[in-house]
Amino acid sequence: MNFATKLLHGTACFDRVTGASSVPLYLASTYHQPDLDRPGVFDYARSGNPTRQALEEAIAVLEGGTRGFAFASGMAAISSVFMLFSAGDHLVVAEDVYGGTYRFLTRVLSRLGMEVSFVDTTSPELVASAIRANTKGIYLETPSNPTLKVTDIAAICSLAKKHGLLTIVDNTFMTPYYQRPLELGADIVIHSATKFIGGHSDVVAGLAVTSDECLGNELYLIQNGMGSILGVQDSWLVMRGLKTLKARLDVSSKSAEKLAGWLQAHPAVQKVYYTGLSNHEGHQLQSQQASGHGAVLSFDVGSRERAKALFDRVTLPIVAVSLGAVETILSYPAMMSHASMPAEERLKRGITDGLIRLSVGLEETDDLIRDLEQALDGLPPQTEKAFTYAGR
Ligand SMILES: *Cc1c(COP(=O)(O)O)cnc(C)c1O
Repeated sequence: MNFATKLLHGTACFDRVTGASSVPLYLASTYHQPDLDRPGVFDYARSGNPTRQALEEAIAVLEGGTRGFAFASGMAAISSVFMLFSAGDHLVVAEDVYGGTYRFLTRVLSRLGMEVSFVDTTSPELVASAIRANTKGIYLETPSNPTLKVTDIAAICSLAKKHGLLTIVDNTFMTPYYQRPLELGADIVIHSATKFIGGHSDVVAGLAVTSDECLGNELYLIQNGMGSILGVQDSWLVMRGLKTLKARLDVSSKSAEKLAGWLQAHPAVQKVYYTGLSNHEGHQLQSQQASGHGAVLSFDVGSRERAKALFDRVTLPIVAVSLGAVETILSYPAMMSHASMPAEERLKRGITDGLIRLSVGLEETDDLIRDLEQALDGLPPQTEKAFTYAGR
């Protein structure tokens, strides 16, 4: 079955009991047990709920895994997966991991006796040299945020297997439509379903899928034990969003590709990051391991003053933290997602004061181009010394 069809028919596309065309909201916290000796499938809604279960089954099918789990947020999914590890364990984590993940690892897990090394995972050699005797897992995000660095998932997974480590991939930017890490050897895939999967900026949710049943049982113990499950209404909203994932991404990604090329040719733009551009460092690898380049790109206008002027001048995109929605979202990494990172670290990663991230929505591309054009054409001249890209 092709992915588009799987989105609608991969699991039950109607309610098994009533035939309703969408899985109903089972707003129940507990379930009547007619026979104490033979308890039903569901007993208490933290442990299992039919609405949430429908979503969990759907994401497992789409990622090609065995068990799916829905959590109260992307961070709830991420922090729950980290609970698979124990005090004294060491993890190798992508250096430009999502800010919230970085914060949880460095401020909470460190307190519980887990050690983390942040590594440039685009280099399997650097990952290999970071592995220690107590290393238990590798955590990836590819393409990374906001400069879209691409990590070779299969290469890292085979390295991990050699050392008996779990590989976990945050697949939020790609979704299972474009990239399926489990098929490349990963053990667990995670999503902030707040982004492309939900897709409408109206729900906060997280998902995780395990490759095998044993790992699934371990994660279920944590989901049920910590209790950070996704609520019934939110599960329904995520399923509603999921049905149109391919249709939305087809339009947004095509638009993003056109915008990336257009921005690259604009004299007011110094650099564009989009893996669909043939001059992006990760272009080739991305084209091999994923079937698309997604709807997120970043571009540099040279200075904070010019970035601020652009934010003031655009009229269509909403200016916000987040991505992956029907409406185009413009964000400013230096003051939003990467505000807590020391300036020196930020600059090392190309996250300059002039860098702007664009998550392309469903507006007509030409309207977005016209809006960005009037904004870029009205930018003040470059006064601060522009950041120079070493070695490029
Ligand atoms: C947003 C995001 C998260 C966190 O998800 P929440 O739903 O906001 O908790 C994790 N990883 C990535 C890549 C994200 O973009």
